Order: sequence, then structure tokens, then C-alpha cells
Amino acid sequence: MKYDLHSHSTASDGALSPNALIARAIAADVDVLAITDHDTLAAYREIDDSALGALTLIPGTELSTQWQKNNVHIVGLNVPLECTAFADAIASQQRSRIERATIIADKLAKKGFVDILPGVLEKAGKGSIGRPHFAQQLLEIGAVKSLDEAFKKYLGNGKIGDVKQIWPQLDEVVGWIRDAGGSAVLAHPDKYHLTRSKLHRLTDDFIAAGGEAIEVVSGKQDKVRTRELAKLSIEKNLLASCGSDFHQPGKFWAELGHHSPLPQECTPVWDRW
Ligand code: AMP
Ligand code: MN
Ligand code: MN
Ligand code: MN
Repeated sequence: MKYDLHSHSTASDGALSPNALIARAIAADVDVLAITDHDTLAAYREIDDSALGALTLIPGTELSTQWQKNNVHIVGLNVPLECTAFADAIASQQRSRIERATIIADKLAKKGFVDILPGVLEKAGKGSIGRPHFAQQLLEIGAVKSLDEAFKKYLGNGKIGDVKQIWPQLDEVVGWIRDAGGSAVLAHPDKYHLTRSKLHRLTDDFIAAGGEAIEVVSGKQDKVRTRELAKLSIEKNLLASCGSDFHQPGKFWAELGHHSPLPQECTPVWDRW
């Protein structure tokens, strides 16, 4: 069975509609897919159930949090689509995204890029507004030559558009997922560029908050690193998850269903479902 439990659609910063994402997952022989858009469950309202065939969909979302000045992402899997408390939590994340967008726009205006918010909002469409939409707009107005440059200069870690104090604390967000009956998964542990000891502290705090699993495999990943993360999951008694973090076609390191399977010694998060 092939599991891809981390992917994005146009409901956040992905390029494919939820139904196109599902078609691509089926073509890639994925058996179980979670669409985990940033701070939203909106993809699940667009899905054409008749096109699923044998594919199993696991309701999910990727929630933005703050941990010790880091922007840490927590994937919630098997979360309820009809739960008032969880829907309220998602709504507050959406408000934070809009508030953050106005802050980022103000900061960019001070750099001379005035009035870019309307174009950014247009790019986000009905989806969760995020930094990639700012990057697209900066590219469109000729402020940068590539999306990568937009992140390197203005939006990436430590740059002016990296506004993270808006997000709720990690333990609060893990609590939302747990209270809703979902599984909280620490997303892409390598993306935070933490030292070994800091990653251990992060996992300890995550577990203390009720976190259940860690992404041992995130996209195309070095085999040695996968073994290290498998070891960490076992040492910390965490379940293991895997996913591509697919956003768009053409990125071989994050292609839907193309990541390696979980190492044998891990206990998969789906074993508890
Ligand atoms: P946000 O959710 O608005 O905080 O934006 C974070 C998203 O930006 C990530 O989920 C990635 O999809 C994207 N991203 C982060 N860093 C880069 C980068 N260097 N180049 C392109 N996209 C990036
Ligand atoms: Mn993203
Ligand atoms: Mn993420
Ligand atoms: Mn993601």
C-alpha cells in the first residue's frame, strides 16, 4: 500500500485543484492520500467522490504554529470535517493569515513595493493566502526574477516577510487536533534547520502537548537522514508518517507518491486508525 499523507491543492498554495490532485495520486498508484492544505479543510468541500475509485482519502490539514520563534508546521490527520470547535480553530487560522498578509504587504510597501495586496489576494483566490502568493506577485511586478529570489530576498526565514509571531503556540495547535480526535504529526522536521538537540527539544514539547507522529519521510530524502529520523521516532516513541509535500508538478523532490516507503522498524501512524 502506498501512502502519501502530505499534499497541497489550490485550497492553499498548490497548483492543482483537489480533483486534479486526486487524479494525479491515482495515476501515481497512491492508495491512501491526505490533502493537507495550509490552515484549511476547504479542499474537502470540492471533491467529486465518484472520481475516487479505490483511493482512500484521509481528511487532513497542515497548521501553522510557533515554537521558540520558529514557524513549525503540524499536520493533522483524520481530523473531522464537521466539528464546530475544529472549524472555529481553522477559522481563526484563516483570520491570522489575512492579518499576516496585511502586515507583509505593509513591510513590502516600505521597501517600495506599494499596493501589492490586491494582486496577492487575486492569486490566492478562494484559497488560504500565503507567502507563495506574495512571491508570485513580486515576480509579476518584476521585483524579482524568480520565486526563489522572492523567498531569498523578502519572504524566507528571517526576511521582512517572515512574520511568525501571528501563529498560536505549538501546544495549543496540537491540542486542537487531539481534541478533535485527529492525529497530530510533526511535519518535515528538516525544514526548520534545527540543531540535533533543538530537534529533540521540539519533539519532547510536541509529545508533551499530545503529538503522536513525526514525518520520518518527507519528499525525496537522503537515505541516511531517513534512518536517523526513524531512529528518533523509535527513541521518542512516536508513530511515523510519510508524504511528498507535493505542491505542483515538475518538482522531482516533491512529486506525489514518489517518496520512499517508511522503514520497516517504524510504527506507521495509520496502524492506530
Ligand atoms: P506560508 O504558509 O504562507 O507561511 O508559506 C510557506 C510556504 O511557502 C511553504 O509551505 C512552501 O510551500 C513555500 N516556500 C517556503 N520556502 C520557499 C522557497 N524558498 N521557495 C519557494 N517556496 C517556498
Ligand atoms: Mn506550502
Ligand atoms: Mn510545511
Ligand atoms: Mn506542506
